[in-house]
Amino acid sequence: MSDDYRNDDEFYMTATCKCGKEYRVEKWLKEGKGDRKPNPLYQLCNVCRNNMHLGLADIEGNPYPASQRHYPVGQGWMPIVLKLNEEIMAIQPDYEIAQIKEKFGTLRFYIGAGTDETHKLIDEAEAKTAHTCEVCGAPGEARHDGWVKTLCDEHAS
Ligand SMILES: [Zn+2]
Ligand SMILES: [Zn+2]
Repeated sequence: MSDDYRNDDEFYMTATCKCGKEYRVEKWLKEGKGDRKPNPLYQLCNVCRNNMHLGLADIEGNPYPASQRHYPVGQGWMPIVLKLNEEIMAIQPDYEIAQIKEKFGTLRFYIGAGTDETHKLIDEAEAKTAHTCEVCGAPGEARHDGWVKTLCDEHAS
């Protein structure tokens, strides 16, 4: 019953993102309902929302200049993160990033619904960060200094 409800056109609407892309969104997220205000994140398509999680654009979908990007993890890992995003976009263009962060010295890349293939790409990228300096991208390893960080020799000292 609840699944039928969620597939209902009463529940979803088609909206146009400021980037021009049409996207399907739960009505109450886009327009609000009762006491709930419209959610600013859902005024955007999944690509623009993902760009916000990637640190490339603000919550309204405006791209940051390169010098002002707010990366979710250290710059050394961002080539891995951005390549992962491109690889997933190629096979699952409607995917949604939920959160990107560092935990226990490795990347965590959380998404909404994903395929086995998508999760395999994510596992590979996360594994790569265990050997990549989060600061500069050079080969690195886990350093235990109160908390775990993956760093090269230079940035560990
Ligand atoms: Zn968009
Ligand atoms: Zn380094």
